Amino acid sequence: MRISKILERAKAGEQLSTQELVDLLSITDKNELQALYDCAYAIKEREVGTVAYFRGIIECSNICIKDCYYCGIRKSNRAVERFEMDEDEIFKEAVWAYKAEYGSCVIQSGERQDEEYISMIERVVKRIREATHGKLGITLSLGEQSEAVYRRWREAGAHRYLLRIETSNPELYAKFHPKDHLFETRKECLAALRRTGYQVGTGVMMGLPGQTMEDLVEDLLFLKRMDVDMVGMGPYIPHSDTPMGQEVRPYTDEQKKHALVLGLKMIAVTRIVLKDINIAAATALQALEYTGREQGLLCGANVIMPNVTETDYRPKYKLYDDKPCTDENSSLCRGCLSKRIKGIGETVGFGEWGDAPHFYKRTAK
Ligand code: SF4
Repeated sequence: MRISKILERAKAGEQLSTQELVDLLSITDKNELQALYDCAYAIKEREVGTVAYFRGIIECSNICIKDCYYCGIRKSNRAVERFEMDEDEIFKEAVWAYKAEYGSCVIQSGERQDEEYISMIERVVKRIREATHGKLGITLSLGEQSEAVYRRWREAGAHRYLLRIETSNPELYAKFHPKDHLFETRKECLAALRRTGYQVGTGVMMGLPGQTMEDLVEDLLFLKRMDVDMVGMGPYIPHSDTPMGQEVRPYTDEQKKHALVLGLKMIAVTRIVLKDINIAAATALQALEYTGREQGLLCGANVIMPNVTETDYRPKYKLYDDKPCTDENSSLCRGCLSKRIKGIGETVGFGEWGDAPHFYKRTAK
């Protein structure tokens, strides 16, 4: 009864209290869960429609200067075979995404701050923009950089940037990162991205050891305060070659189910709170269950990031264990995903950038 009242108020656009958000994230009853997902879906339909936008993700290098304790490509993981695509390879994959009518591509890699890498990215972004006549949206996800670098890449033609905060709780952040990876720096980077004119996306991990429902609600309120345009968040999935993964151990089927439900609840409550932003159904959802990403769309997400990276490189870009689609080529991914999205009654926004209405509203102010 209490949950249905909260959901009624959410649907009517009323602001929910912190305790009410905790209550929504704590739902375990099957019918209440479905009511939560339905409420989020109704808000998604009203605010952003039921078109799923594709962002073709190019994982162009697994070399990283950072050492986050949860990440499979952290610099101290000697078990990873490192790779780096050259400019032509990145360009080729972006053009593939363009020809496949993906409205946007996402260039993602481990973090590097050397000039050689920075200028290579700058050149390739320019090349992609020119070759696609500015029609292929270009999102970057290349970690923490100086404001000057963000500006260079923005001027080259990138217009969106994803930088996950991972958790808005500075204590948890400190627990999962080495001492010189500062929460404040990450926050300042998000502010710099705003100043340089990007559509800014961030997100968190759910199910971190020691994380509470209250932490997750704080995460949501952080996203709201940061006035973000996009959210990409996913359940924490251990990677066995990381310090955290060795403590947590691979998930049992029961733990996978639990992580999936928590991920879906967070998507739903994010849609309820932030309404008109873009929310990605993270690939990590599919690692937990084959239909995880479609379930994400049905709970309020509206963006999917199919992998367009050369199949040979994919197994080397494993941020967590059991990452899906590492052996399917890009055309198969496109066909398979499109069919699955159609299957849940949505359409794919082929050839469209699919910017969040929130971005237009905030920039029109
Ligand atoms: S999470 Fe990002 S910054 Fe941290 S080690 Fe992995 S790729 Fe590098």
